[in-house]
Amino acid sequence: MNLILLGPPGAGKGTQAQMIVERYHIPQISTGDILRSAVKNGTPLGKQAKTHMEKGELVPDEVVIGIIDQRLRAPDCNAGFVLDGFPRTTPQAEALQAILDKIGRSVDHVINIEVDPEELVRRLTGRRTCKNCGAMFHIAFHPPAKEGACDRCGGALYQREDDREETIRTRLKEYEKQTSPLIRYYDLKKLLRSVQGVGGQNQIFSQILRVLDTKPI
Ligand code: AMP
Repeated sequence: MNLILLGPPGAGKGTQAQMIVERYHIPQISTGDILRSAVKNGTPLGKQAKTHMEKGELVPDEVVIGIIDQRLRAPDCNAGFVLDGFPRTTPQAEALQAILDKIGRSVDHVINIEVDPEELVRRLTGRRTCKNCGAMFHIAFHPPAKEGACDRCGGALYQREDDREETIRTRLKEYEKQTSPLIRYYDLKKLLRSVQGVGGQNQIFSQILRVLDTKPI
């Protein structure tokens, strides 16, 4: 099963991708996670991406396309994959199509998670991630049992640099301008399936499961 999760920052793509991974045993490919790890390790890729990410801007297309081209060829993608945060521009979507054509694969579903913009700001400012295992929490909607510590592994929770309000506004503008046209792009290809990104994470996941049990029209 080859999936794309589409939706604005804060829609819950990462959380839903993790739930899909647990259920279907396919890898989550998050360009955001790959880039953050490169920045942390100070690699050439990280150095290239850092300033764009700190400002909430998109990293240049050729950089992320290169990451995906390499990643999709790894053997663990043979059973499928869930793309989280890629593609984010029309050139990225076109490049993805070319990569998949080359390796004889295709996208099964594009799941678009819809959320109201003001709700996104509330969610993103409260978001906390475990430094150790990447588990995600929210100070109001999904707080950890012990403040500042991960329920899963006890690791320290941190707030992403780009989850501060001003950067969030830039990320939402980037989404509107560059990523939202992909909704129409995939709708025209008859791959788009929209779900409402409101309510608890299990409620959203139930809608996704319904989509995955259904063949695209
Ligand atoms: P995310 O974790 O998906 O919200 O991504 C965090 C940041 O990484 C974004 O704000 C961008 O700066 C960068 N990024 C992640 N994925 C992409 C992509 N597909 N294209 C361009 N930049 C990306």
